[in-house]
Amino acid sequence: MNLGIIICARYQSCGGGKCFRALRERCGGFARYAAEEPVGIIGYSTCGGCPGGNVEYVSAEFVKNGCNVIHLATGLVVGYPPCPYIRQFKEFIEKHYQVPVVVGTHPIPLKYLEAHAKMSLWEETGMRKLAAGLMDESREIMAEYN
Ligand code: SF4
Repeated sequence: MNLGIIICARYQSCGGGKCFRALRERCGGFARYAAEEPVGIIGYSTCGGCPGGNVEYVSAEFVKNGCNVIHLATGLVVGYPPCPYIRQFKEFIEKHYQVPVVVGTHPIPLKYLEAHAKMSLWEETGMRKLAAGLMDESREIMAEYN
């Protein structure tokens, strides 16, 4: 299994520690892969900045290099405001490149879950459904990613 990861350009200096840890630990957006299943990262890049012009190009490169699944990083979900284009990115990549898109990489840090619970945007944007795999994570694991 070859994965590509697209992160939010607001966090372009991120070293990717939580994403790579979560892949090793098979949690968050990576819980869908069995521990014994070999999974590699074939590409890691940013969206290029709002409104995400690099999503088209970086996805094309991932696919050319054998990508099976593209993950939109958890930063798109937990940033404030959350990325307003997640739904469009997912639809575009899945329809144009025929590659499934998973919303999320590492578990949502519990402190961000609690912060968003006090605000309205996740509800208004349907984020709880869009990122359901992340929302279902155990609170203990979320706390470990604070
Ligand atoms: S909010 Fe969305 S479009 Fe804007 S920089 Fe982040 S991922 Fe890219």
